[in-house]
This record gives sequence, structure tokens and C-alpha cells, in this order.
Amino acid sequence: MNASCPASPIPSGPLTRHRTRQVEVRHGDKVVAVGGDAPIMVQSMTNTDTADAIGTAIQIKELARAGSEVVRITVNTPEAAAAVPAIREQLDRMDIDVPLVGDFHYNGHQLLTQYPECAEALSKYRINPGNVGQGAKRDTQFAQMIEVACKYQKPVRIGVNWGSLDQALLARVMDENAQRAEPWNAQAVMYEALVTSALDNAKRAEELGLPGDRIVLSCKVSGVQDLIAVYRELARRCDYPLHLGLTEAGMGSKGIVASTAALSVLLQEGIGDTIRISLTPEPGGDRTREVIVAQEILQTMGLRKFTPMVIACPGCGRTTSTVFQELADRIQTYLREQMPAWKGKYPGVEEMNVAVMGCIVNGPGESKHANIGISLPGTGESPAAPVFVDGQKTVTLRGERIAEEFQAIVLDYVQTRYGHQ
Ligand code: SF4
Repeated sequence: MNASCPASPIPSGPLTRHRTRQVEVRHGDKVVAVGGDAPIMVQSMTNTDTADAIGTAIQIKELARAGSEVVRITVNTPEAAAAVPAIREQLDRMDIDVPLVGDFHYNGHQLLTQYPECAEALSKYRINPGNVGQGAKRDTQFAQMIEVACKYQKPVRIGVNWGSLDQALLARVMDENAQRAEPWNAQAVMYEALVTSALDNAKRAEELGLPGDRIVLSCKVSGVQDLIAVYRELARRCDYPLHLGLTEAGMGSKGIVASTAALSVLLQEGIGDTIRISLTPEPGGDRTREVIVAQEILQTMGLRKFTPMVIACPGCGRTTSTVFQELADRIQTYLREQMPAWKGKYPGVEEMNVAVMGCIVNGPGESKHANIGISLPGTGESPAAPVFVDGQKTVTLRGERIAEEFQAIVLDYVQTRYGHQ
């Protein structure tokens, strides 16, 4: 045996998942489980005015069709609360059974009590304990919201955010810190205040009668290392399911990279039961991007499967045209667009891999590893594109219609391989 060879196989995959209770989010017959053994759930949030029932219902439909398993809407005004039942009805008429979560700040106690149909139409409430009220009113108003959750049997996410951390609690944690023989630094005090806020409010909710298996926690911050530190501590100290997300992640690649960096570390450690990617859309941008990014994080980490994956090379000096980039983009878009229809019709199709490669260097090899692959001709190669299906070369495409012909081959493969299960 080679002396450098290890005695046991090299381990792979995430660490054991942090054990949590399971919370069920229900709408009618639809049940979405969070925590326990349930798959890590993808959620999103609308950016429409909730008082605009039609506009909000349309965006929820888009988010749900993109794969959001729960959609959160802000409920910030009497008009918004009044619109919630209409949004729910509109979605039901469109056969969109995605559960809705109401996001409450400042006046949640009033809206939930004064608009019982809103309280009933929502499947879950998000309460930010930093925005419940000041002084003596705080406990009463928090209790009012928990009473409504108990009355309608709704789960609650106690969602702490460091942008709106309960200042009275922060002052208390700072005072306690000052009593320490060796006081912690400001960052450690902030972490402790966030975690304490989530845990104390969860405990209070249970004392008020909300069962522990109807509580989800989150402690969102906007720094990657801060998020990792806070969630590690939260996971160590409780068994409530945890909602992960880097708050105010930002725009474009920065938001995607920061969210991915933070969530990947935690997910790899088995921490996190539901995720949301808080991307700022480009002006006029598509809100469903946050759902796609969330799915891609989970799928590329091997934690869930949502959509067939396209493996494409980056291209280099061996490619003289953009044909393979266009083909990769076209196939990826095609596969994603088909998924709502394919999901029920072709079970298992989400596990398919399609390779689109730019030249002979890695093209045939990568294509053979995929379910279907195409190796386009690079500089100096004959203008032919061999196609590989399940590792075997089946046909060579030439000419102007390579994209259409390859797409037809992909569809045929899907129908044959996944259509008779
Ligand atoms: S497969 Fe070919 S074209 Fe693509 S990056 Fe590798 S060498 Fe370049």
C-alpha cells in the first residue's frame, strides 16, 4: 500500500444536521415542514405594496412558480391587512397553494387583532421582537400577537435583526457584561444580545401558550462572519428550527457571493432549516432571482435537487465564438422554464445533468460524466459537435441548427428516461 494512502475513505458531504423540532406551515391541505427531517425549505419575500392585492398576488405566483415554498409579505398598514384575505383568495383561484407569512413590525398587535380575516388567511407570522413596542407596552403587545397565533394555531418566526435590536435588552446585556471580571468586546456583546433576544422571546411565547413546535427563530445580520458566529451559538443553545439569511445582502454578485459564503458554511455544519436570500433587485429586475439563488446554493451543495443542472466551461482562447455560451444559456433557461410542468410529469428529472462544453480539451470527458453533453468545436477543430448520452457518443451535430437539435435531444431524453416511472 502507498504510504500516503489514508486508512479510510475521504469523507464528503455536510456534517450531521443540527437536530431541531419540526414546525408545520399549513394552507388548506398543503403542509410545508420546517426543521426536523424536512428538506431545507426555500422562501422569499415580495416587494409589492401589500395593499395592492392583485399586484401582490401576481408576484407571489411568480415566486411560487420559481420554487418558493413559502412567501412572506409585509403587513404594515390597515390597508395591507385588509388586502391579505383578497390576496389569499386570488391565489387560491389561480391554484397557487403556497403558504403566506405575514411580516409584522410596530403595529402587528393591532393589525392581527383588528383584522381577524388577515390573521386567519396567513399561514405563519413573523414577529420582530425589536419592533414590538417600548417599555411596559412591549410585553402586552407581544402577548397580543402570540395570543392570536395560539387562537388560529399559526406558527411564528421570532425574527431578530441587528438593525432593529431591542435596545432595552441590549442595555441589559451591556450592563451584565460590565459586571464581568473580564468584559467581552462590543462585538461579542452584540452577538449575545441577538441570541438572547431570540431565545428570551421564544421562551416568553411558550409561557404564553404557543407550543414549542410552532416556533422558528432567526437572528439576521449583514456581515458574513457575524452571521456564522451568531447562528453557531443559536444552534448550540436551542432546538427550534432556524431560518437562515444574510440580511441586506446587497445587489448583484456582491449579494449572491456574500449570502452564499455565509449560508454555505452554516449549511455545511448542519445549521439551517429554511433559507432566504435577501437580494436587492436591479431596477426593474426580477424578484424571482432570490429564489433561484437559494435553490442553486442548496443544489450545488448537494442538499436538495430542484432543476436539471447545466455544466458549462468558462471558455478560453480555444473558443473563437460565443456559440457555446449562447447554447449553455439557452439550455439553462429552457430547463428552468420547463420545470413547473416537468416536475409532476417527469419525476427525477431535477437530478439530470447537462454539459455544454467549448472544445475537445474537456468537452468529451465532461459530457460523458453528464446525462447528456455536447462538445462544441474549438479553434482549429472540425466544425462538428459530438453529443454524448449516458456516457456514449450518439450523434454529431453540424451547421446552423445545433441549438435546436440539441434541445430536441434533451427533451427526448427527458421523456424517455423520466416519463415512464
Ligand atoms: S473546455 Fe476547452 S474551451 Fe472550455 S475552458 Fe476548457 S479548454 Fe477552454
